[in-house]
Amino acid sequence: MNIHEYQAKALLRSYGVPVSDGRVVLRAEEAKTAAGELDGPLWVVKAQIHAGGRGKGSFKEAEAGEKGGVRLAKSVEEAEAMTKQMLGRTLVTHQTGPAGKQVNRIYIEDGSDIETELYLALLVDRGTSRVSFVCSTEGGMDIEEVAAKTPEKILSFSVDPASGLSDFHGRRVAFALGLKGPQVKQCVALVKNLYRAFIEKDMEMLEINPLIVMTDGNLKALDAKIGFDGNAIYRHADIAALRDETEEDPKELAASKYDLNYIALDGEIGCMVNGAGLAMATMDIIKLYGAEPANFLDVGGGATKEKVTEAFKIITSDPNVKGILVNIFGGIMRCDIIAEGTIAAVKEVGLQVPLVVRLEGTNVEQGKQIINDSGLNVIAADNLSDAAEKIVKAVKG
Ligand code: ADP
Ligand code: MG
Repeated sequence: MNIHEYQAKALLRSYGVPVSDGRVVLRAEEAKTAAGELDGPLWVVKAQIHAGGRGKGSFKEAEAGEKGGVRLAKSVEEAEAMTKQMLGRTLVTHQTGPAGKQVNRIYIEDGSDIETELYLALLVDRGTSRVSFVCSTEGGMDIEEVAAKTPEKILSFSVDPASGLSDFHGRRVAFALGLKGPQVKQCVALVKNLYRAFIEKDMEMLEINPLIVMTDGNLKALDAKIGFDGNAIYRHADIAALRDETEEDPKELAASKYDLNYIALDGEIGCMVNGAGLAMATMDIIKLYGAEPANFLDVGGGATKEKVTEAFKIITSDPNVKGILVNIFGGIMRCDIIAEGTIAAVKEVGLQVPLVVRLEGTNVEQGKQIINDSGLNVIAADNLSDAAEKIVKAVKG
């Protein structure tokens, strides 16, 4: 689960991380009061979307001379005008994809005097099964680009969970970032606070880009991006409350309400499968036969008829879906339940695209019977490759 920059900064502030003072604005009328509460003489007006690259992004139907989603204002009035301009419009960055994201919240922040922009991130490194720090002197820009062009400018190391974090790690970061004198001490404290926040709140990723050295020599987190481990959210009511559902794919949102493991993809074949491994194999074989999966969907082991119906509705609500493949191995899951759910869903939402069903395992005969008796135009398949071949043929001809 991701949160907005202003929420991330509030959380980091509570952990003693230096951030700027700012106000979030949901309606243009609030902008003047919000900006007036800040000191000036420089204000930064920042579009809040769950994507980076806002500064270099551009708005759809941008007016001449209009700049990206992070703008500097020299007066309260200018900050207000910029807020009005950005709210409700669609911002496209290299992370949003061409469709962009609608800006529903603006963060107005005190401007900082920047000496240098640095990069610092913490993430769960699956390779080492540890929390890793990534740091670079090349802050403020796309870290992927730095990694591709000048990988020697990135230092990465992981923390042994048994011995935990010590001042040594903080000094190592400070050295890599080229910090000097009192900044080293600040960096040690910063690294400690970030690590504590990361562990206590079950984060997956915490990225400060840029971390700045100000002209007065002090450090500050000027941007903050946080992703939390979705499987641990139940332990953090405070974090769950930060969820902004308008930022999420509506199909994935519906799926999460029914406890379905669903990820939207770009292809044309909708998949309904039980078990993550079988779902992966199904996606692979669709590709092998020359098409692309429209989603990953694992309905789980103990799916009910209602859950299957909901899953089917989510698949058919995707306009890119040109065919559906149901591939179920009934172990704990029974094939007749899947068949009933599929038929119920088809009766409710209709079937505009070809549907191939492959059932195997517990109650397979009853399942097949239910589908045959339904009178619906369902293509039966005997095994995985047969199913994939049939659905790709039905879609591509
Ligand atoms: P994004 O990464 O989405 O582009 P950032 O918050 O990193 O957004 O802002 C982009 C750039 O804007 C920063 O690298 C920095 O140069 C400048 N900037 C952002 N916030 C401030 C601020 N409070 N004061 C001064 N400059 C800022
Ligand atoms: Mg940034």
